[in-house]
Amino acid sequence: MKSMKHTQLTFFTDVGAQKPNSIRNKETPCPFCRIDELEEVIDRNGSIILVKNKYTVLDNAYQTVLIETDECEGELSTYAKEHLYSVLHFGLTHWERMRESGKYRSVMFFKNHGPISGGTIRHPHMQIIGLNDVDCQHDFSITQFDGIPILEQHGVSFTASTEPRVGFYELNVKWEKGAELSLFADCIQAGAHFLLNHFHRSCTSYNLFFYKNEDATYCKIMPRFITSPLYMGYGVQQVANNIPLIAQKIKDIYFSS
Ligand SMILES: [Zn+2]
Repeated sequence: MKSMKHTQLTFFTDVGAQKPNSIRNKETPCPFCRIDELEEVIDRNGSIILVKNKYTVLDNAYQTVLIETDECEGELSTYAKEHLYSVLHFGLTHWERMRESGKYRSVMFFKNHGPISGGTIRHPHMQIIGLNDVDCQHDFSITQFDGIPILEQHGVSFTASTEPRVGFYELNVKWEKGAELSLFADCIQAGAHFLLNHFHRSCTSYNLFFYKNEDATYCKIMPRFITSPLYMGYGVQQVANNIPLIAQKIKDIYFSS
């Protein structure tokens, strides 16, 4: 089947059906714990490993998985700082390398965490996926990263969205070229930690999505809930009225010293 549009990917359902699901089925052995059985290791730095995805569900795409740690129950929001920086440095470097290779129309770099994030494996990981024909940033806009400031420092800005992609709450980090990776990483970790611990009681899931625009790198930290019908049916975004309060809370918990 030929892709009809440049914003559409063919998904192979037979491959999808073979994928293990360690989130839904706790009995499923974790494929990212058994590193001896990993198929194609592309690169590694200690416990951080980039592998070719065994389940290539997407047509016209090169799918890789970044295993973040050898601790199955670990979570990015609680990594020691040095490990956090290593994971992000490793991921950003490989994302950049794939983008610069010229082999792909665009390259996606993202993370799923939790049962309703779209992920199927609990073990902490991210994905870097090269797309042959699709521009994954076709709907990117700078305004989706505008918002109430949480932190603005040395080329890094952290905001709570006032014009979200989807709604109701989205956190954004912008990283200017040449700025310290550590500050960018600290903001991402604080955002993820806030969502899982100090936000909504029922928030168990989030995504990280990375984007590149001009020389800046952007990360969207999205809490995941059941998607709003207003957005699904009409593309209408709802913005929570307490966004300034949320921004203040993050500032108080993570950046007040
Ligand atoms: Zn595992």
